[in-house]
Amino acid sequence: MSTILEIAQEKALVQGIGLNQQEVYELLTIDDDHLQDLLDLAHQTRIAHCGVDVSLEGIISLKTGGCPEDCSFCSQSGLFESPVRAVTLNIGELVEAAKQSEKMGASEFCIVAAVKGPDQKLLDQVADAVVAITNEVDISISASLGILNEDQAAQLKGMGVSRYNHNLESSRSFFPHVVSTHTWEERKNTLDLVRANGMEVCSGGIIGMGETIEQRAEFAVQLASVEPDEVPLNFLDPRPGTPFADRPLVPQGEALRTVAAFRLAMPRTQLRFAGGTELALGDDGTEAGLLGGANAIIGGNYLTTFGRPMERDRDAVDRAMHASAGPSCCSAGASAGATANPTAAEDTAANSRLNLGITPVGERKNTGHGPLYDTLTSL
Ligand code: SF4
Repeated sequence: MSTILEIAQEKALVQGIGLNQQEVYELLTIDDDHLQDLLDLAHQTRIAHCGVDVSLEGIISLKTGGCPEDCSFCSQSGLFESPVRAVTLNIGELVEAAKQSEKMGASEFCIVAAVKGPDQKLLDQVADAVVAITNEVDISISASLGILNEDQAAQLKGMGVSRYNHNLESSRSFFPHVVSTHTWEERKNTLDLVRANGMEVCSGGIIGMGETIEQRAEFAVQLASVEPDEVPLNFLDPRPGTPFADRPLVPQGEALRTVAAFRLAMPRTQLRFAGGTELALGDDGTEAGLLGGANAIIGGNYLTTFGRPMERDRDAVDRAMHASAGPSCCSAGASAGATANPTAAEDTAANSRLNLGITPVGERKNTGHGPLYDTLTSL
């Protein structure tokens, strides 16, 4: 085992402590020969500190498109020539989507709106939606409504929103290359208000927007410093009409290193695959990621892109849970917060060696991303 993997094993797996920026950087640049070992270690760390469960989340956009902000990756900005038009859903549609999510096994349902921050009318709509959903569906409700002030955070907590999503999006040093209409600090301040008002913090970002590997490592430790309950990890899906439309996709091996390195930076956090996963990782890579550090997935369609049918996500989750629940994985200590036994962990890593048929780093299968990518790029 390489030195950095030994350090990661001792800190993240055994002690449950996140790695520092230099250590994360070394994992992000680990050579191909050690990639599988890295994935195994990330998986064992996830099992040891988060358990075997994989969380599936449904997501619905209450208000899509027409946002006044200029996030360069986002086709919901009203400032770009992108094809997403402003649409608002009604309460009945939200309840129906929550029912569908529950039916597919989702434990969490997130209401999202493309706004800089919510006005009172939007907050009142969300309050009505939360009541309507909780009357009919047994599901935990989260929200993502942009930048909050103190009063708005308190209102959301009061109406029963348990978790609030607001992504830091990228490292502090790269953020000004992505957005000019608000600051990284404004986003961070919202996360502080979410925590102070008793909601769980969900914050992640997008990999592959042009940041350096060093900035990816910086982002991982900045996220870790917020101590988020959940980190949604997106890979750039270059949307037509946005300033980042021509940015290349993140290669599969690089994406898998990122998943594993972020897990080892945040051993106890729910690490959720979100937008662009199917493009960067492909189907085999998505399952590899669920066996390489991730433990949650957003099912079905994303906000502005197709995602995958929720049944396929459900299948991927089932396969990953089956693999996670095998005898070798359980021997590492499957309960959340358990202190792993290093000897058992080493045995486990050896016994549960994954054989995933991952596309070698630097190569691509056909287009590299499977039929969905072909479909999207031919549109
Ligand atoms: S990421 Fe959010 S704030 Fe930025 S343009 Fe898109 S919807 Fe608006």
